[in-house]
Amino acid sequence: MVSPNRFSIPPTIVKRAAPTPTAAPPPAAHSDDQIRCPTCKSTNCKSARMIFEQGTHEREFTGLGVGLRGGVGLFGGIGQSQSLMAQRCAPPSRRSQLGPVLMTVGCGLIAAFITTAAINAPNAPHGMNDPGPNTSALWTVSVLFLIGAAMGLMWLAQTASWNAAQFPKRLLAWSRIWVCAKCGASWEVADGK
Ligand SMILES: [Zn+2]
Repeated sequence: MVSPNRFSIPPTIVKRAAPTPTAAPPPAAHSDDQIRCPTCKSTNCKSARMIFEQGTHEREFTGLGVGLRGGVGLFGGIGQSQSLMAQRCAPPSRRSQLGPVLMTVGCGLIAAFITTAAINAPNAPHGMNDPGPNTSALWTVSVLFLIGAAMGLMWLAQTASWNAAQFPKRLLAWSRIWVCAKCGASWEVADGK
């Protein structure tokens, strides 16, 4: 019988030999060409912009993946995950000003219309001293719509201010986002470029 104890010594030597510093990655790994995932150290990383643009491109090449027999499963999986990732990597968009404009103009027009009706009402000359029920209701509704128009203007100003101040920051932050295709981690690269 061969005693296995004699072979228990070499493995310890092999273990020692394994973590030799020869496998140390070159320090150039952090260059712009080789961005590494901070989580899994994979170099299979793409910017959010690239993933978004390729994700919309990927749909057209769905049929191509079927032809590559060996990589059908792989390509199908990547294609699907990329289109999902592309949705997650979509750039920020400006806030629409259509709602505030419609609210301001609509409420303003209605307020003007109702105010005109209140002024032209039969009891109008005595409206303040002796307001008839119809006229006072018209004035109340008119004021409500005026308030609505004012709120629409404030909303419009808020939207414009967000688009001017916040949107560029969001867009800049988005342009710095990189995503690891291996583990899905995302992070912001420095402003080095
Ligand atoms: Zn990773």
